[in-house]
Amino acid sequence: MSNILAKSQNENIQKAGECGGAVTSILKYLLDEEIVDGVLTLTPINDVYDATPTFITESEDLLNAAGSYHCAPTMIGDLVQKYLFDKKVAITVKPCDMRAIDELITRHKINEDNIYVIGLNCGGTVSPVSGRKMIDLFYDANPDDVVSEEIDKGKFIIELADGSEEAVKIHDLEEEGYGRRDNCQRCDVKIPRNANIACGNWGAEDGWTFIEINDEKGQELIDGAKKAGILETKSPSQDAIDARSKVENIMINMAKKVQDATYPSVNEMDEWSRCIGCYACRDVCPICWCFENCELNKSYFKIETKMPPSPIAFQGVRLSHMSFSCVDCGQCDDVCPMDIPVSLIFDKLQKKYYNRTGYVAGLSDNIKPPLYSPEKTEL
Ligand SMILES: Cc1cc2nc3c(=O)[nH]c(=O)nc-3n(C[C@H](O)[C@H](O)[C@H](O)COP(=O)(O)OP(=O)(O)OC[C@H]3O[C@@H](n4cnc5c(N)ncnc54)[C@H](O)[C@@H]3O)c2cc1C
Ligand code: SF4
Ligand code: SF4
Ligand code: SF4
Repeated sequence: MSNILAKSQNENIQKAGECGGAVTSILKYLLDEEIVDGVLTLTPINDVYDATPTFITESEDLLNAAGSYHCAPTMIGDLVQKYLFDKKVAITVKPCDMRAIDELITRHKINEDNIYVIGLNCGGTVSPVSGRKMIDLFYDANPDDVVSEEIDKGKFIIELADGSEEAVKIHDLEEEGYGRRDNCQRCDVKIPRNANIACGNWGAEDGWTFIEINDEKGQELIDGAKKAGILETKSPSQDAIDARSKVENIMINMAKKVQDATYPSVNEMDEWSRCIGCYACRDVCPICWCFENCELNKSYFKIETKMPPSPIAFQGVRLSHMSFSCVDCGQCDDVCPMDIPVSLIFDKLQKKYYNRTGYVAGLSDNIKPPLYSPEKTEL
């Protein structure tokens, strides 16, 4: 593992990039040299609230994708498994995307040799709908005028079309029920160290991206992009490395405080009693990979009764998988029509499982999950 500062040698990418445009430059290098078939990343369609997963095959389209989208709580890790299994792909990932990818690799649902994973550190994401409302309520700005947003030094900062900026403390927003999604407030994985590289602004000088190189493949990416003349690098100072690690620890401690406050407060049975068995949480979960063979599709759950399964039986099946596999990505919370804190329940169980076995979903290299098979088996 080593640390570098990096910035693009391409002026347009430097301007469009969130920090030094290093990520976009590395993606461009991979496409131009035909090392990958395509890049899976997010591109805003109309504004900063609707960044959407896109599979980019022409490097000029990367400029539209550059930047950080905090109002995009999208999971893109499982799209590789669903649509791109046989392709060589580079993908930009938040830590929860990376954990999902790792879980799917463990279960032979993603071929590790086919992917380059460019990690982005993550302080949290904001739901787009609540994000708009939050800007309307707490900022002196029209949500439609926001051209970019960032989370820095404990504040959610918006930049407006006229170049001005406004900032409000995240703590104040979250006390009022806005700010980062509930699972993000609890999330204690801020730097995706199981990605090939982890990129961020912590510890970075203005106009540079701080990159932690995590493995040989990561080193190849940096060396290749430099050799292609699109990336410049230098060493960060020890002060910068220390500052980064200090912020990371503060964020982890904040998350642990939220865990301590929320795990005991949730009553699973009360919550499940409101479940209408709509299947939305199962369908969106990146770790639910059984598809048509899912136990919940069996006739005794569906056809024989023509009724949704009882919430307890339904969630019992989910629990038998999620209690050790949940990566706390919060996709299930985002879709639940009954506002059940599904991720809180499964994340709490995952932590209990971790306390007994040492297995952390999407992070443990040496410990394998239950029912792990070293061979790929078709269901
Ligand atoms: C939600 C979020 C929170 C972040 N929080 C922190 C933080 O707290 N501390 C820190 O050090 N760094 C954080 N970062 C990382 C930082 O903002 C930059 O993304 C990183 O430094 C790379 O900068 P760059 O100029 O090299 O990237 P760019 O050249 O701008 O390229 C960024 C690439 O990431 C893709 N992308 C943008 N948003 C997402 C997303 N939500 N999911 C997946 N891909 C995306 C873009 O489409 C683009 O391809 C965060 C990033 C995101 C997306
Ligand atoms: S769960 Fe963690 S990694 Fe995922 S969006 Fe939230 S803070 Fe970022
Ligand atoms: S149960 Fe929810 S939080 Fe956990 S991995 Fe599935 S969608 Fe993500
Ligand atoms: S999304 Fe909500 S209501 Fe639907 S099955 Fe899941 S927990 Fe139940």
